[in-house]
Amino acid sequence: MTSIQLETISINLIGSSSLSASEDCCIYLVSDRDSSNSSILIDTGAGSDRSINAICRNMEAINPVSEVCYILVTHAHIDHVGGLRTMKSRLPQAKVIAHTYAADVIRKGDPVRSAAKWYNTSLLSAEIDIEIGDTFKKPIGKSGTFQVLHTPGHTPGSVVGFLTSHSAYQSVLFGQDIHGPFMSEFNSDIDRWRQSMETLLGLEADYLCEGHFGIIEGKKNVREFIKGYLRRYSYANS
Ligand SMILES: [Zn+2]
Repeated sequence: MTSIQLETISINLIGSSSLSASEDCCIYLVSDRDSSNSSILIDTGAGSDRSINAICRNMEAINPVSEVCYILVTHAHIDHVGGLRTMKSRLPQAKVIAHTYAADVIRKGDPVRSAAKWYNTSLLSAEIDIEIGDTFKKPIGKSGTFQVLHTPGHTPGSVVGFLTSHSAYQSVLFGQDIHGPFMSEFNSDIDRWRQSMETLLGLEADYLCEGHFGIIEGKKNVREFIKGYLRRYSYANS
């Protein structure tokens, strides 16, 4: 599936390795039919011209790009944040949200912690408008809430988005790179990751919008996806 509809709120997959550029993560747009200037872009992809053009075209097909009010950076890896500076120039009204630890990597264009060196490329540094420590919350339309939660592990500055539609009684988790990998160069911490995954299981989301596997539907499937990685990286296997 490439979209979710929860009453007036839409979630659309607008970029991915097949939709925008092979090196891109999955990129999502959250928008509400009844309220303008309330859309949220989740991550920006790796940043090639082809990728940015495709993402903006897909965004424009859903609602005007001028209605995007926030860009959420889930973590500072190049496949998620490489396009941030260019995307911000296309969406000057949008405020960029990132965890303080991710903001530091992005401001410095750090080649190691951003994994840019891994991909044999470089990260364009970019400004962050809203640095968060633990949580951030905003309403979406008349009946939705969008929360950002700090979930360290894959990187110290990893966060997830959690959207609740109070009228549809359903929730969507934007959990990018639940699967890792875990590398000392990224300052990964597998013990904190396990704690973060337990937090995600406690959310009991109805959908998971993942960073490289698209949209996973159903509470049971979301739970099994997360638990599968917890089993893979269990203490016995680590
Ligand atoms: Zn990553």
